[in-house]
Amino acid sequence: MKAEIIAVGTEILLGQITNTNATFLSEELAGMGFDVYHHSVVGDNGGRLQEILEVADARSELVVLCGGLGPTTDDLTKDVVAEFVGEALVEDGPGLQKLQEFFAKAHRQMTPNNLRQVLVFEHGESLPNDTGLAIGIFYQKPQGTAYLLLPGPPSELKPMFLRYAKELLAKKMPQQERLLSRVLRFYGIGESRLVTELADLIDEQTNPTIAPYAKPNEVTVRLTVKCQDEATGAALLDQTEEAIINRVGEYFYGYGEETTLEEVVVSLLKAQGKSITAAESLTAGQFQSVLGNVSGVSAVFPGGFVTYSPEAKEQFLGIAPELIDQFGTVSQECAEAMATAARAKAQTDYALSFTGVAGPDALEGQPSGTVWIALATVSGVTSHQYHFTRDRAYVRHSAVMAGLDLLRR
Ligand code: ATP
Ligand code: MG
Repeated sequence: MKAEIIAVGTEILLGQITNTNATFLSEELAGMGFDVYHHSVVGDNGGRLQEILEVADARSELVVLCGGLGPTTDDLTKDVVAEFVGEALVEDGPGLQKLQEFFAKAHRQMTPNNLRQVLVFEHGESLPNDTGLAIGIFYQKPQGTAYLLLPGPPSELKPMFLRYAKELLAKKMPQQERLLSRVLRFYGIGESRLVTELADLIDEQTNPTIAPYAKPNEVTVRLTVKCQDEATGAALLDQTEEAIINRVGEYFYGYGEETTLEEVVVSLLKAQGKSITAAESLTAGQFQSVLGNVSGVSAVFPGGFVTYSPEAKEQFLGIAPELIDQFGTVSQECAEAMATAARAKAQTDYALSFTGVAGPDALEGQPSGTVWIALATVSGVTSHQYHFTRDRAYVRHSAVMAGLDLLRR
């Protein structure tokens, strides 16, 4: 079924806010199996809203409107849609009661315009607002287009959609097919190489579709399948995932839009019962700060060292000045000495060290982006040299990600 989204609000047209409601609604509706063909934005203007309603009514089976359900006179979505579909506006009983209680509790006099928020269509369905006062509306014209009216604030729109509208839509407008997606995350492989490795799969696959997306230092691949039911969809996703993992599995580290490399590493360490510390030069604590993003990290991370200058390396880690004189701070020897010393001092299972040239200037004759990372374990110390490109922030972030990746392997 064809669906479209109309966001109402002059502030969106002026560029003052981003239309995140449309993003959210699109993803949800697509997941339910609706074909979302159009997004529109219209200002708080009755005439122009009516114009777009005429277009939408003719081409879509479901029209979702968001914004303009509030108490003020520029909140005119309900009035305009009611008139358009020929419905009378009436007060919603439970909504009115909640509104009155709200003002009584706040010891405030309710101004009459507040009643506008609880007006609903006489023959429509009301959607409760658990996080605000404006009531939502679902209304389907006899044998015609359905309208869903939701409040503008995302903190109200999202719960209203997820708790009430979704179920109502599934009941009133059941879809033959739905969309399922799965996100695979990769580190250590560039987007262009990943696309090359998967080229024939990407070209041949239509269900699921395979969509790679590059992020700083990593690539995500979104698989999207159209299916009648969840089990069939999951089986198709499994097949495609397996084909992908067969080719680039060594770079795969996790699922989902939200999963991060640090979360994966911390849960690995927890599962193994191992602890980690770090001695950081060029990253100046950034690695440890990233570990701190993960709640519960204290179980595996007691603390560590930020040793930026040669003196700090000597004072906190006991790195001999002679070693630095002989090899420099940006060296395999220094990296390994830092990791070994950090592990001994913190008495952890693992220790990582980071030393290098964040740039933009060269250091000790080595170009910006040269980084050494060493990993000390019970069986000794190993080290890796990297040559990162781009700016200072990118070099440091890349070093942190590379350190996490060493722990994951
Ligand atoms: P209110 O009762 O707060 O007036 P409303 O339903 O009338 O709610 P609007 O007045 O249109 O909604 O918008 C209220 C606020 O909600 C905006 O200032 C903005 O912060 C947010 N908002 C509105 N529309 C969107 C949108 N499409 N995407 C993201 N945020 C939005
Ligand atoms: Mg408003």
